Amino acid sequence: MVGEAIRDGAVLVEGDRVLEVGRAVEVGGAGSEYADAKVRRHRGILTPGLVNAHAHLEYGPPFADLATSGLPFTEWIVELTARRMRMSDADWTEAARGSAHQLLRTGTTAVADIVTEGPGVGVTSAVGLRGVSYVELAGVDDQRWDAGLQRLERLLALRGRARGISPHTLYTLSSKVFTEMVALARSRGMRLHPHLAETADEAEWVMSGTGRLADFASKFGLEFELHGRGVGGTAVAHCAALGGLGPDVHVAHGVHVDAADRAILREHQTVVALCPRSNEILQAGTAPVAGYLADANPVAVGTDSLASAPSLDLLADVRRLRDIARDQGYEDPDLALRLVQAATIGGAQALGDGDLGRLAPGGPADFAVFDVPTDQDPYESLVEHGEGQCTATVLAGRLVHRGRLTA
Ligand SMILES: [Zn+2]
Repeated sequence: MVGEAIRDGAVLVEGDRVLEVGRAVEVGGAGSEYADAKVRRHRGILTPGLVNAHAHLEYGPPFADLATSGLPFTEWIVELTARRMRMSDADWTEAARGSAHQLLRTGTTAVADIVTEGPGVGVTSAVGLRGVSYVELAGVDDQRWDAGLQRLERLLALRGRARGISPHTLYTLSSKVFTEMVALARSRGMRLHPHLAETADEAEWVMSGTGRLADFASKFGLEFELHGRGVGGTAVAHCAALGGLGPDVHVAHGVHVDAADRAILREHQTVVALCPRSNEILQAGTAPVAGYLADANPVAVGTDSLASAPSLDLLADVRRLRDIARDQGYEDPDLALRLVQAATIGGAQALGDGDLGRLAPGGPADFAVFDVPTDQDPYESLVEHGEGQCTATVLAGRLVHRGRLTA
């Protein structure tokens, strides 16, 4: 993703780092210093490890029936909330493990993972997935902030990989709690990752404090100052007003945004993680993918969780984004390239880690191979055929998934 695609290429790895990337005849070829390096041959296209910019690994396989339940978003989140109460720590660990393995089997080596319960931190750390675990709070109003803060501190103190903070949404937290969480993250140099502008219900709640999310707040006894009032503006504008956007933030979804909202996101250098299959399943709407690309907003790709997506195969979402952008009138020939960039270096920007999503000397040896046709544009081929075709995944120099390898 930092240069032209290389035909008949090779990656030379030592330990967990990349030493060289180039043509196979040159990298480790006869006469080179590495001529007797062990060679693994693959057919297809080798890419940097994909970066999933929005997932909830804890909502793993046991929640998969919710993705086919046909429930629209607001009913779905009520059912999800009820289901959570019946899970033990061991159940959460097992669920997160199931999700993590799906990531590795589909070529993803880094993930922005929302952690609601805690066990997700240990699972991603043990598996070695790169990225950030964003500890989430939801359902917290001013009265519940002390308890919420205690929970947050407990999850932030767990041993494991890098931690960030996810103030869940503008409709499950009071404005005070939202801003306190933002301030806490900044005081500790942690990244932020809220859900934003996902549904029309959210847009209505922020605008006027009414609708199904007002009922949702009442149902759970939550007291929010937006209730019955709103702020008379969009979710993106309100999030910005609360200090919740910036280069240290990336947001999930960004479905209900207009050109002015996209300008606000750009001004704040905030990456949007697009999750098209989840949006479709939850009947949340369709993000303005063509608008984001035409306006040069920074974008990344996420799957969301198995509770709202049929799989964690990032390239399935990439292909869906391609179809949406075309339907919305995006005609430039760079579409496939830009979407593969979103799934790699776009995710790296979202996570604030410039080592991710690229293969370069000195960088981490994280990559994936997809058994797709190589007689056409490689980006078009990956987007069109990549889903389900990952035959090898290497994470930190170790082969962590192996499918149908050719000799
Ligand atoms: Zn989510």
